[in-house]
Amino acid sequence: MTSRLHPDIEKAYSVLDTGTPVSLELARALGRIPDSEVLDLVSLANKVKNRYAADNGAVHACSIINAKSGHCSENCSFCAQSNHNSATIDVYGLVDDEKLLQSAREAYSNGVRHFGIVTSGYGYMKTTPEFTRLLGMIDLLHSQLPEMQVCADLGMIGDEQATALAERGIVHYNMNLQVNPERYGELIADTHTVDERIETIKRLRAKGISVCSGGIIGTGESMDDRISLIFKLSELDVDVIPLNVLVPIKGTRLEDNAPVPVPEIAKTFAICRLVNPDRIIKFAAGRETLMKDFQGLLMLAGANGFLTGGYLTTRGRDTESDNVLARQVALFA
Ligand code: SF4
Repeated sequence: MTSRLHPDIEKAYSVLDTGTPVSLELARALGRIPDSEVLDLVSLANKVKNRYAADNGAVHACSIINAKSGHCSENCSFCAQSNHNSATIDVYGLVDDEKLLQSAREAYSNGVRHFGIVTSGYGYMKTTPEFTRLLGMIDLLHSQLPEMQVCADLGMIGDEQATALAERGIVHYNMNLQVNPERYGELIADTHTVDERIETIKRLRAKGISVCSGGIIGTGESMDDRISLIFKLSELDVDVIPLNVLVPIKGTRLEDNAPVPVPEIAKTFAICRLVNPDRIIKFAAGRETLMKDFQGLLMLAGANGFLTGGYLTTRGRDTESDNVLARQVALFA
């Protein structure tokens, strides 16, 4: 009997049988399949996720606190917190312990067990008083909520600072590459280089910290660019891959970017799973605000986690609605 599957999707079924990622060549071919075939690709990605990254159908949920907002020296094109952009946002220094605990307790009471402390700015290559305070905040979370896994995204990190974070049992450190590394300077920022980000990832991994690193869909990148990013993340052996869909913010350089069609986004998610069969792939920003009716479809396109309870400068939705979504997605496992 002849297969009714697109020949490139049929070839990609080898991932399901063997757990071996698709080749770069096949990933690029999958990136070119017609939109009418995308649901077959989604189906394969869901099967691969179920076989190699299922974790009993669990959806990995995490929440973050924007612990320090705005006044950032860097010129990231998408980001409302950059001094180079003119977006209107709340600007504040490092939050106090009470605010931190309140946010973490709220996430905990909603069943979330991974909580990330995120700060704006280039990062901490030296141990400043602010970095020391952050270490104290991590200790506080561990003492007050011992079951909560604490994560961080504090920008670039020096060697000594990475050691300090490892000693405090940081579970995942987020450092997104955002786009095809070769186009980082053009599409994202030129006040720092993607190599600085990659160095930070390597530094953290050398200290035994798991890395969470992904990207943004909708910056003006091509499908081939997305695939280059996915392969770079695989090469860096990152543990968690957050995929964001750009939510254009007024006052940022990307404010007028056109939305990427849903089939393109679904293909990207599915290809990410076929290249990273056993990793945690999280749907982050853009899930509720932009994808609305299609967020469930994207959660079935190979994702096995999401960020819940709001983002850095854009809103999310309540965690109970997300818990319902997670239970429904688990029915397809
Ligand atoms: S993404 Fe981070 S480094 Fe870039 S402008 Fe925003 S806060 Fe600064």
